[in-house]
Amino acid sequence: MKMTEKINQPILIAGGGIGGCAAALALSLKGYSTIILEKAEDFSEIGAGIQLGPNVHKMFILLGIGEAIKNIAFYPKNILMNDAITGKKITQVDTGNKFHQRFGATYGVIHRADLLDVLVSACRTSELITMVTKTEVTDYQDNGNFVKVMTKDGKSYEGSALIAADGMWSNIRAKIVNDGEPLVSGHIAYRAVLPIEEVPEFATNDDVVLWAGPKFHLVHYKLRRGELFNIVAVFHSDRYEEGWDAFGDPEELRARFAGARDEVQSLLDKIDSWKMWVLCDREPVKNWTKGRVTLIGDAAHPTMQYLAAGAGMAIEDAVVLSNMLEKNKGNFEKSFIDYQQARYLRTGRVQATARLYGQIYHASGVVGELRTQMLQGRDPHDYEGLAWLYDGI
Ligand SMILES: Cc1cc2nc3c(=O)[nH]c(=O)nc-3n(C[C@H](O)[C@H](O)[C@H](O)COP(=O)(O)OP(=O)(O)OC[C@H]3O[C@@H](n4cnc5c(N)ncnc54)[C@H](O)[C@@H]3O)c2cc1C
Repeated sequence: MKMTEKINQPILIAGGGIGGCAAALALSLKGYSTIILEKAEDFSEIGAGIQLGPNVHKMFILLGIGEAIKNIAFYPKNILMNDAITGKKITQVDTGNKFHQRFGATYGVIHRADLLDVLVSACRTSELITMVTKTEVTDYQDNGNFVKVMTKDGKSYEGSALIAADGMWSNIRAKIVNDGEPLVSGHIAYRAVLPIEEVPEFATNDDVVLWAGPKFHLVHYKLRRGELFNIVAVFHSDRYEEGWDAFGDPEELRARFAGARDEVQSLLDKIDSWKMWVLCDREPVKNWTKGRVTLIGDAAHPTMQYLAAGAGMAIEDAVVLSNMLEKNKGNFEKSFIDYQQARYLRTGRVQATARLYGQIYHASGVVGELRTQMLQGRDPHDYEGLAWLYDGI
């Protein structure tokens, strides 16, 4: 990225998660100063893994954090989908050398906390980025030439523009898009991370493995250079608790996975204490910008996790937004519209495809058989179906 002239009034960023920190970093590389306002006590992420395609690894290089990511990621050899009832392989994507050659970058999995640590450390080394915690943004006023942000503790901040990176439950979105609460999918994810020493032998391969069953699936893979092991169990349920950090109910989990094979059950048995995510998304929209205020990441286009692409979209957003500001020489209104135009079809496709993938993973009966029949013959090196996503921006 090219360094341009430093702009005086900082851009305010509401939310210091993956999207907010990536935006601050991308903007700093274009010469823009930012203030990140994060409501939590610290910049921290929940204990879970995240899968990132080559489109995202290319963004890490642009952001100057490619090496730091390499030091803490794990690079799986394959993505495998197995039938959780019969144990038979349904399909496989080889993520080795051929994949790397095809996409010009790799497929990597990372602990969310490690990813955020890399972003936060990079932000801390920039004199253009101010990072403020324990500060919840409650409202804003767009005054035409500047934006004023109000916080829960009665303070206010002024900036040249506002980027809302405040996630799925963004309260800034309400003033721009006004489409109510996120849509509760009826799907729940339980997650846990184990030291690799505690993992049963059969699961210690170097693959991302997905066990697909009727109305449930389980994903596991190694994390942090192979030192940790990530498990996510997803199933249909009618429980709802907003947020991403509530405790799960192991009894419900066992009941939902009752028909699964012993391998799957043995992984569930390893965990005493599960954390729970209630999975939501929204219908894609084409406008999430008003004047000098725009949204990025889950605030703009929250998606189901089935495509493992939401965080990647937030990171791409950050890069595109900073490119537009550079191109339009700091004209915020135009840059935000251009950014949104460049993004809404791609992120909308991720939202729509993620829902479809959920149906494919959880299919049963005739639809389940059809799914297996259609996917079983796939060549593990046929990457063209994934190119729209992994070719990147
Ligand atoms: C089960 C599951 C698995 C997933 N797996 C993957 C995957 O493998 N790959 C992938 O790419 N994506 C994955 N995702 C999606 C990914 O987690 C999200 O898309 C990503 O976290 C979005 O980042 P964000 O910064 O936009 O929002 P968030 O991560 O939600 O961050 C928002 C930040 O804003 C702060 N905040 C909120 N409100 C305020 C406020 N009013 N004022 C100040 N601060 C505020 C929050 O504390 C938080 O720090 C998964 C999601 C789930 C649920």
